[in-house]
Amino acid sequence: MPLHVEIIAAEQPILTTDAEVVVATTVSGQISVLPQHEPLLTLLAPGELRLGRGANEVLLALAGGYLEVRDDHVTILADAAERAEDIDMARAERARDRATARLRESQSSVDVARASAALARAISRLKAVDQFRSRGVTRAR
Ligand code: ATP
Repeated sequence: MPLHVEIIAAEQPILTTDAEVVVATTVSGQISVLPQHEPLLTLLAPGELRLGRGANEVLLALAGGYLEVRDDHVTILADAAERAEDIDMARAERARDRATARLRESQSSVDVARASAALARAISRLKAVDQFRSRGVTRAR
């Protein structure tokens, strides 16, 4: 019996699919969820999310959020989530450069937490694109 995975971002369904394994980036590191996992509610950090489906793998960049596991249902409520193949790399690079420039400014008007979060999102998107290109991860359909 596979896991039933539902990914929701900004209250919109992003992806609903079955998977044999879910690998997620939590605030305390990477976790792998297999069928019959114990109930879990955890906080996600900006980073990758992988869904294993046989020989296929779906790769997404998540901006952070929550992951809940219950009775082989994995529900992910993300702040933002994009499939790797849908990521606009130039946009993520601009976001990274903007955030980096803000963090270099030593003015008190800079919201460091906000710039750091934006940087983490941009890096997570760029990593997902990189992984997608180097591994040739199959399209999520
Ligand atoms: P930007 O400053 O470029 O908007 P951001 O990190 O502030 O980046 P978010 O607030 O995380 O953006 O996301 C806003 C919306 O835009 C979400 O729907 C997210 O999925 C989408 N999005 C953000 N960056 C990208 C990207 N590089 N490629 C594709 N979609 C993106």
